[in-house]
Amino acid sequence: MTIGPHALAGAAAATITSNYYLAFIFGLISHFILDMLPHLEPKSLMTKEKDGTKKWSIWLYVFVIVEISLTVFVFYFLRHRPDFNLLLVGAFGGLMPDMIVNNPFLQFLRNKPVIKHLFWFHDKIHIDLPDKYWPVSLIVETLLIGGLLWNFFGK
Ligand SMILES: [Zn+2]
Repeated sequence: MTIGPHALAGAAAATITSNYYLAFIFGLISHFILDMLPHLEPKSLMTKEKDGTKKWSIWLYVFVIVEISLTVFVFYFLRHRPDFNLLLVGAFGGLMPDMIVNNPFLQFLRNKPVIKHLFWFHDKIHIDLPDKYWPVSLIVETLLIGGLLWNFFGK
């Protein structure tokens, strides 16, 4: 799953409490629930080198920049809500597992206590559909994003 849905789902999950610690935990739980759904992976946009290694394509850079911009844009429109800080904490919880697991600078944590379990759990729970099923992933992710936006702006 990508940044936007994780941040929005974490923020949505945070709205069921007024406690910042629980907001973070609910955001964290939302991350794993979303990772169990068939979804788009930015790594599908990576290019394969001749030696078999994968490299970020220009489209992946564009995708990440556009998605981060849109996510910041959505949160900008939520900034006047009285529970905005709670939403940010939930979003942070929703993004946290990927910020650790996918961070090239934190790979040294892979074998440390607790974090090693996070890596293991994240790998186990994650549904990785073959790239050819991208339309299914796109439908799921579009419905999810639409539902989350409706949750915040459609009521
Ligand atoms: Zn994840």
